[in-house]
Amino acid sequence: MGSPDGGIREGTSSKPVGHGTYSGRVSAADETYLDLALSRSRVDRWAQVRTDEAELGQIIRRDSTRVLELRADTVPVDPTSMRLVLRPPRPEDLDREPWFLGRDEGVDYVAVVASAEGVPEAAGSAAQPRWAGLREVGADLDDRDAGLLTAATALRGWHDRHGYCPRCGAPTVVTQGGWVRSCPVDGSEHHPRTDPAVIMAVTDPQDRLLLATGLPWPDGRVSVLAGFVEAGESLEAAVAREVLEEVGVVVTDLVYRGNQPWPFPASLMVAYRARTADTELRVQESELRSAAWYSRAELASGLREGRLTLPSRVSIAHRLIQEWFGQSLPGHGPAVPR
Ligand SMILES: [Zn+2]
Repeated sequence: MGSPDGGIREGTSSKPVGHGTYSGRVSAADETYLDLALSRSRVDRWAQVRTDEAELGQIIRRDSTRVLELRADTVPVDPTSMRLVLRPPRPEDLDREPWFLGRDEGVDYVAVVASAEGVPEAAGSAAQPRWAGLREVGADLDDRDAGLLTAATALRGWHDRHGYCPRCGAPTVVTQGGWVRSCPVDGSEHHPRTDPAVIMAVTDPQDRLLLATGLPWPDGRVSVLAGFVEAGESLEAAVAREVLEEVGVVVTDLVYRGNQPWPFPASLMVAYRARTADTELRVQESELRSAAWYSRAELASGLREGRLTLPSRVSIAHRLIQEWFGQSLPGHGPAVPR
């Protein structure tokens, strides 16, 4: 990754030397992605409140507080304004282990998990909220609501999967406004996990883009390559390793582009551009159904004719592809509402 001021940092040689290593050039563009759908939050997390039991108790009783209710993986959204439908606290929220999401313009926001029963199947009307998830509506929400729903979705994914102490196996309890799970047996505290993953737009000497179809995907669904960062691995080494493993090409000239949380359930996607001098692909069949180089004209015609589909515009993958393409992609709106 580039230095914090966005300057260029160079490695010691121009080529990576093998699996799991990258010693080539890494740079950061002058401007990275700052308006990604799920990175736009303007809510102050106000972390000092999390350890203030008295204040937390007041917040969940205060009429001015706004509550985001989660049912299964969905929240209520006003289908006309595309804003979250938030409500004042109710007495039953006290028993629902409310999570403190933060404060914005003097209003405190909390999330509670309610029973999944009662989620209407039909699309919402003006009078009835539509129950929808972050993947579905994340790109259409405003900055406040995108931030609230991204944090709530991330907490949901973590609480659902981390009910037991990793040290002693005892059931843990929710503390600090939902941001810690504490073990009552050994006193250990456990924090929400974030698992970094790299995602990369790789181009060949003709500036064609590498797009691939993952094993479980439907025909024609294509995206850029991505993969989890392994334990003890740098971001750049992960980019080089994933591309080499999945399609057999060696990358150079990494450029850091930006990052966004992807809480399905706990990823942080870190995006790069990369180049390769190799055009021959050796597709690893245990990971991918297919992979190929696409010119802009080939991608555009595939999208217009319905032969190809891309990840939705809430994803950083979409932004990487759109940046290479140079304009809005056929059949897709702008990446974020503006
Ligand atoms: Zn324990």
